[in-house]
Amino acid sequence: LFIVIEGLDGSGKSTQIDLLRDYFHSRGEACHVTAEPTGFPTGKLIRSVLRKEIEVDPRTLAAMFAADRIEHLFHPEAGLLAKLAAGYHVVASRYYFSSLAYQSEFVDPGFVASLNRLAKATLPADLTVFLDLDPQVSMQRIQARPGEDELFETLDKLRHVRESFLNAFTVFGEDENIQTVDANQPLHVVAETIQDLIDKL
Ligand code: C5P
Repeated sequence: LFIVIEGLDGSGKSTQIDLLRDYFHSRGEACHVTAEPTGFPTGKLIRSVLRKEIEVDPRTLAAMFAADRIEHLFHPEAGLLAKLAAGYHVVASRYYFSSLAYQSEFVDPGFVASLNRLAKATLPADLTVFLDLDPQVSMQRIQARPGEDELFETLDKLRHVRESFLNAFTVFGEDENIQTVDANQPLHVVAETIQDLIDKL
């Protein structure tokens, strides 16, 4: 299975992904955990842009995310397709819906969608879980863990990103299995909800 976890910062993606890996392992099933931006060359370049060490046009950044995703898909050993072919379940933190949600703030959503057609045609997720968190709670959690995030997140931006996610699911994911889970609930409730969704597959 290919499972994608999407959500705002602070929505608990990393925690839920760790719990999901434990869940697969408890069933004796191999699980590969991965994230975007990746550790491949384009992913590293993206992190430099996000840290504002280098500057590129927003359309270039959108294309860089799409390029990083292509590498993520097709890398011969560590790629999504390779891991699935080797018998792993793959759980990814973020995939093309994050691009539609974040890059569409500055770039025509149709252009971002066109950049992501290859990934969607090649490997849509078996299940995309949207960890839906109140943007105000996201903001509080970002501020509570001082790091690079708080440099560029504002409440207005988080609200916009949440709306963009919901919009992207409707226009770009209408033919996909996308489930929204209330991430304001306790961790174990969220984890059990995700496990139930997986059991159904
Ligand atoms: O998931 P992670 O915490 O690594 O994401 C860090 C930041 O990268 C996000 O808060 C977002 O600002 C940015 N991002 C983005 N476009 C994506 C994925 C992430 O702008 N497609």
